Amino acid sequence: VKEQLLKLVEVPSLSQDGVPLTLAANISSLKELDAALANGAEGVGLFRTEFLYMDRSRFPTEDEQFEVYRAVVQKLRGETLIIRTLDIGGDKQLDYYELPEEENPFLGFRAIRFSLERKDLFKIQLRAILRASEYGDVRIMYPLITSIDEVRDANAVLSEAKRELAAEGIPYDADIQAGIMIEVPAAVAIADLLAEEAAFFSIGTNDLIQFTLAVDRMNEQISHLYEPYHPAILRMIRAVTNAAKSQGIPVSICGEIAGDVNALPIWLGLGIEELSLSAQAILPVKDGLLRTKAADSRKLLEEMFRCKTASEVRALASQFHAEAA
Ligand code: PEP
Ligand code: MG
Repeated sequence: VKEQLLKLVEVPSLSQDGVPLTLAANISSLKELDAALANGAEGVGLFRTEFLYMDRSRFPTEDEQFEVYRAVVQKLRGETLIIRTLDIGGDKQLDYYELPEEENPFLGFRAIRFSLERKDLFKIQLRAILRASEYGDVRIMYPLITSIDEVRDANAVLSEAKRELAAEGIPYDADIQAGIMIEVPAAVAIADLLAEEAAFFSIGTNDLIQFTLAVDRMNEQISHLYEPYHPAILRMIRAVTNAAKSQGIPVSICGEIAGDVNALPIWLGLGIEELSLSAQAILPVKDGLLRTKAADSRKLLEEMFRCKTASEVRALASQFHAEAA
């Protein structure tokens, strides 16, 4: 089976009726990039930079980060690299920096909230990303955005980092794109407004499901309630996609659900153009994609939106997949 799948590495990722769906990779390190490329990843849709900060005894310097970002983008040979700025806090701690003890760390001092509180550290990361943008198609992505102010504040730090580099005569891509993760219900509700300020959206379903359903993603006792096929989730993804489309910005899916081959008709039905998924999920999803028609997916999705329960949606999805197989 594995060899069969490996034959698909060079095959273009298109639906059976020819609709392209880019399959990019989620990575956390240079090493994971090799696995992603071996599986035919078309770019990196989510570079989780936490691990660069976790594998050491102090914050990584600008040069240390730059070296890694440059190495990744150079290996991508012209394909896109989306670097997510630090998403520390929540379940990810640093040995050398005392984050506050929190009752609800996932709702706490993490991600963009940390970066905007520690703008000194944020600017170091942005400078490193900007310097790497000289070597390929690098884009910036801010995590856990809940308001327009956060996007503007982050972009203000980005502008400052650009001004500094310009003054120092260090080259960077002046037109670098800055997009956001949509992973908080508030961001879904104001997606039309955010689409005017962000260059692209990437839907982080891991957090979006946890926050929408009020189900802690780490709590095993309630893991059966963590339900990607909940009608509420489908509606939120549709709302975000519509907002992005009316503003003409791209939208992708980068949570774990992107690796679920049964979910393919949802993306094809909504007209989503890119998924970002773990290396080992790329070829199974491509295999499913090649057997799935976008036209049929659109019809199925209409049926899914008439379902009242997650189990009905799931049943439709798995039946559709079984028929395509
Ligand atoms: C997500 O929340 O869906 C996501 C991709 O980010 P992380 O899993 O790192 O929180
Ligand atoms: Mg997240």
